[in-house]
Amino acid sequence: MPYLLLGIDDTDWEGGGCTTYVMYSFIKYLDKENHVDSIVGLPRLTRLNPYVPFKTRGNASLSVIIRVSSEDEARDHVELMESLIDQLTRKEGKTSPGIAYMVIDHAADINGKLVWFYGKSVRDVVTIDLAHRVANSVGAKLRGGRGVIGALASLGFMPRDATYEFIAYRSEGSERPPIDVRDIRLWNDTTKPFTFLNLDGEQVLIEPHGPDPVLFGIRGDSPYHVLAMGNYLASKYGAIGWIIYMTNQGTDEHRSRINEGIPYMNVNFISTVINESFDERGHAHLVLSNSQEIIAYRHLGISRNLSGCIGCLVHAWGGVKPNDKLNLYIEGMRTLHDRYVKVKNPRCPVCGGPMESIGRAGLLRCKRCGFKDKLPRIIMPRNRWLLINPRMSEYRHLMKPQERIGLEGLALYIPRPFLWVY
Ligand code: ATP
Repeated sequence: MPYLLLGIDDTDWEGGGCTTYVMYSFIKYLDKENHVDSIVGLPRLTRLNPYVPFKTRGNASLSVIIRVSSEDEARDHVELMESLIDQLTRKEGKTSPGIAYMVIDHAADINGKLVWFYGKSVRDVVTIDLAHRVANSVGAKLRGGRGVIGALASLGFMPRDATYEFIAYRSEGSERPPIDVRDIRLWNDTTKPFTFLNLDGEQVLIEPHGPDPVLFGIRGDSPYHVLAMGNYLASKYGAIGWIIYMTNQGTDEHRSRINEGIPYMNVNFISTVINESFDERGHAHLVLSNSQEIIAYRHLGISRNLSGCIGCLVHAWGGVKPNDKLNLYIEGMRTLHDRYVKVKNPRCPVCGGPMESIGRAGLLRCKRCGFKDKLPRIIMPRNRWLLINPRMSEYRHLMKPQERIGLEGLALYIPRPFLWVY
C-alpha cells in the first residue's frame, strides 16, 4: 500500500499563526473522519537552520506520513491541507506558505537526496531553485511560495536522534494564563530526565511569549512522559486541544564540522584566546589568535565564565553573522588547554612537612625539621576545563541541552502512545 509524505511550512506571520497549528488542525480533521490510524508514527516537527534570515520565529516546518489506498486519496489529503492553509494563514510580510508531497511505496524508502536536502536546510541556506531540482529528481511535487523549501526538507527527516514535544493550544483571542511554577517543579521532578527545558530556577520555560496559538510545549525524550505532564497541565490550564510531535529539537542537528566563517551557518573555531573585553552592554568580545572575533551576548549568562580565558586554547561554536568581519556569535565553548599553571613547593622528603623557599636560587627549607635542599617544584595546571552553555532560558530550539546527554536515539525505540492527539 502506498504512503503519502506531506510537508508544510511558512504559514505563520508576524502577528499570529503557527505551522504546528495548521498540522494539528489537519490531523484533527482526519481524526473526525476516522482516518487517524492511517498516520504512520507521529507527525514530525522539524526545526531548520536557526540563522536563516527568512524565518519569523523558530523556523519550524512540519510533515506527516499517511498510508493511502490510492493516488486519489493522496490528492484529497493534499487538497484538504491546502484549504486549511488558506483558512488559517494571513499572507502578510514575509509569509509565503508552501506544500511538498510525494507518494512512495514503502514508508522507510525515503530517497537519499531528500535526506541530504533536509541536512542542508538544517545547517545551511538553500534556494527555492535547489528545492525544485531536488523535488524533480525524487518525484516530489511542490506548491506555493518560499515555504516549499522547509516543506520539502521536512520530508527528508530520517532521524538518528529525535525528541518529542507535547504542544497544547489555546482558544483564539484568549490570554495565556500564568503557569504555576510549583506545577512545573513537581512534574519536572517526576518526569526527569525524560523531559527537558521545563524550568530555569524560578522561571517557567514551557510557555511561548509570541502571538501564536500555542499555550505551552513540553519537550522530552519519551512520549509517555511528555504526555503525562502535558495532559495534566492541558486540563488545568484550559487547553482547547493538544498533539505530540516527533521532532529534531534539542539534537544539535544544526551544528556542522566546518571551521571557517561562513555566513548564516553554525561553525567551529579552535584557536587561542589572545584578547578579551566587555562592551558597555556587558557583551563579551574575545579575539582568537587567528584574528577571529567571537561574541557572547550578556543575556546568555556566560560572560563570567569567559573572563580569564586569555592564553587558553578553546573550541568555540555558534552562528556567523554576514557582516564584513564574519563574527561568531557563540552558542557554546570549551577549553581544550588551559594556559595557567600553579607552581607549588614539594613536601619535605624527610618528615613530610611543608617546605618554604629561602631566597637562594631554588633552595627549600622544611618548616618542621629544618631539612634544606634544592628540590624540583611541582607544576600544577589550573585545570579549569570550561564547558560553557547558555542559561536554559536562552537555548535555541535545536541546541542540545546538557540534560539530554546520554539519551540520544532513545526516542526512536519508544512506541507511539495510544493517545497522542486530542
Ligand atoms: P515558526 O514560527 O513556525 O517556528 P518561522 O516563522 O520562524 O517558523 P517560517 O514561517 O517557517 O519560520 O519561515 C521560514 C522560511 O524560511 C520558510 O519559507 C522556509 O521555507 C524558509 N527556510 C527554512 N530553512 C531554510 C534554509 N535553510 N534556507 C533557505 N530558506 C529556508
